[in-house]
Amino acid sequence: MHAAPRLPELGADRQREYRLGIMGGTFDPIHYGHLVTAEQAREALELDLVLFMPAGIPAFKQDKRVTDAEDRYAMTVLATAANPAFDASRFEIDRDGVTYTIDTLRALRANYPDNVKLFFITGADAILDLVTWHDAAAMAELATFIAATRPGYDIEQARQRVAASGVPFDVRYIEIPALAISSTNIRARVSAKKSVRYLTSESVIGYIRKNGLYSSHAVERVDGATAR
Ligand code: ATP
Ligand code: MG
Repeated sequence: MHAAPRLPELGADRQREYRLGIMGGTFDPIHYGHLVTAEQAREALELDLVLFMPAGIPAFKQDKRVTDAEDRYAMTVLATAANPAFDASRFEIDRDGVTYTIDTLRALRANYPDNVKLFFITGADAILDLVTWHDAAAMAELATFIAATRPGYDIEQARQRVAASGVPFDVRYIEIPALAISSTNIRARVSAKKSVRYLTSESVIGYIRKNGLYSSHAVERVDGATAR
């Protein structure tokens, strides 16, 4: 399956360079932090499109409880629907096994002509770990990385870690309006019957309520402990 079924022809006209952004995440649930990050990255790096790609079984969250992929995908579709430069991809959730970003980048690279450049978008916390990702050297060859500031994470430390790794990553650092929003906090709030209004879209909140997500099962508290 093509990673971007709605845009398989991107770049086929060979008229110019096209820039495809990939916003990876667990999106459990998607929130305004993700959306602002992607939109600001799109603008700063002049991306033609941003593909939101919910992870199937995220490599870093194998030991954690993650909401059903179909629900995470549905919320991603809802949250991105109104932006013509955003799309949601089933690519990782339709794959078996653990999600590795390198596999996604290889699939995208194989599917597009050379005039399509790949940009992988992350927040500061993810870029802090980047050098430990599976097959980091191969990733560095396939994509440019965009690292957005995120409250609570040190982008300077990330910059130093990437430099010290010796892997020739091309990372563009962008400063974005700070939103101290996390999916973990949203799950905890829903579970505690607190308001999540204005942390994510009305459509996502409606979906959470309609399907009873995050209400009955264990959620991690912000401190990392597990609450029931
Ligand atoms: P969780 O609390 O479950 O880890 P999360 O809010 O961190 O959820 P993820 O799905 O883990 O969301 O993150 C996906 C990507 O979005 C990562 O690259 C992360 O750095 C980035 N991101 C998430 N929230 C923000 C935010 N508020 N500001 C900037 N980047 C963010
Ligand atoms: Mg996270």
